[in-house]
Amino acid sequence: MTESVHAKVLIIGSGPAGYTAAVYAARAALDPVQIEGMQPGGQLTITTDVENWPGDIRVTGPELMARMAEQAKAVGTALVSDMIMEVDLTQRPFLAVGDSGRRYTGDTIIIATGASARWLGLESETRYLGGGVSACATCDGFFYRGRTVAVVGGGNTAVEEALFLTNFAEKVYLIHRRDSLRADRTNQARLHANPKIEMVWNAEVAEVLGNGKTVTGVAVRSTVDGGLSEISVDGLFVAIGHDPATSLFAGQLRMDDEGYILVAQGSTGTSVPGVFAAGDVQDKVFRQAITSAGMGCMAALEAERYLAGHNAHAIAAEGADDRALLV
Ligand code: FAD
Ligand code: NAP
Repeated sequence: MTESVHAKVLIIGSGPAGYTAAVYAARAALDPVQIEGMQPGGQLTITTDVENWPGDIRVTGPELMARMAEQAKAVGTALVSDMIMEVDLTQRPFLAVGDSGRRYTGDTIIIATGASARWLGLESETRYLGGGVSACATCDGFFYRGRTVAVVGGGNTAVEEALFLTNFAEKVYLIHRRDSLRADRTNQARLHANPKIEMVWNAEVAEVLGNGKTVTGVAVRSTVDGGLSEISVDGLFVAIGHDPATSLFAGQLRMDDEGYILVAQGSTGTSVPGVFAAGDVQDKVFRQAITSAGMGCMAALEAERYLAGHNAHAIAAEGADDRALLV
């Protein structure tokens, strides 16, 4: 027989959004069950120093996430090592089926499955991840004061990352594979007006160069004639898009055309009442640990209110006598 677990609050994902939702739900005595997924701790487990998490001058990503997991567990969250492969949001309670074959039902679901940066797919890029290769200027730009960096991409994110990096770096190369940008006109105008930014048109990064520890440059290949050249840089920011982890919910929740879950303004409520979405899975603007954690808090508080309202309706529908229970 297939094992089945029921939760008042079922949380899918264990990044900052998921753990924060778990802490709030557990402290509201809602006995949350949290499915960790293939990356317990989420995206921050693949970075080194985090310097913008309030309360910690410096903490490593894995250390911070281990502490969040410990706190979620300490207040009563059941952390489960499993990966959700299938959901049914049309039935009540909601159903989620794990890779383990276990079936989870939830009176509410908090989706905190995050997103992942798209990478170039080079072996040298992976080697220097955390040693000069980054996908987040807000997170790592600070380390490049007075130095030279390159950004790859031609969309709004790449242009905004390049502009942001000029606050620190002496020089910023923007490497784009075509001869025109996808970014909007306002961003393009700001970019072209900034003397610290130099465009490298019709070029793709062929290899990240380094000294074995940190980045020292990039080899770029012309997309016109295939010619190779090198640019000396101290850091490389890859800004070629992100993919939210939402394929699981396709056709069941309203999403935008890039697959981010749509939520009501000022809320984490999705198009299905009782299903909430928090963190990078619904946010393509901020993509930070602190904003994800904030949304995790909102989702748990909204799940709590939903359950309170839901129970009230259920009892009220059963008869006048039961209404006394609500007082
Ligand atoms: P994530 O952290 O993406 O976590 C998603 C979770 O969902 C994971 O636990 C995964 O296992 C789980 N999951 C996915 N699919 C399933 C499934 N089907 N079933 C079950 N579980 C599932 N932000 C900062 O504020 N400061 C920084 O310094 C910083 N540095 C960064 C460095 C790097 C290299 C990267 C990649 C990001 C960095 N960020 C930083 C961004 C930050 O990590 C993210 O904004 C944040 O982690 C998003 O949190 P989240 O909870 O929404 O999702
Ligand atoms: P995007 O618009 O999809 O742009 C991705 C860029 O990366 C494109 O220029 C693309 O080149 C390039 N690229 C993709 N794969 C590549 C590869 N393997 N090698 C080299 N280059 C590659 O992504 P985004 O910039 O992250 O933006 C995502 C969405 O958020 C967009 O809708 C964007 O407008 C929006 N956004 C808006 C704002 C804002 O309004 N201020 C800010 C940030 C993001 P090609 O152009 O050749 O395809």
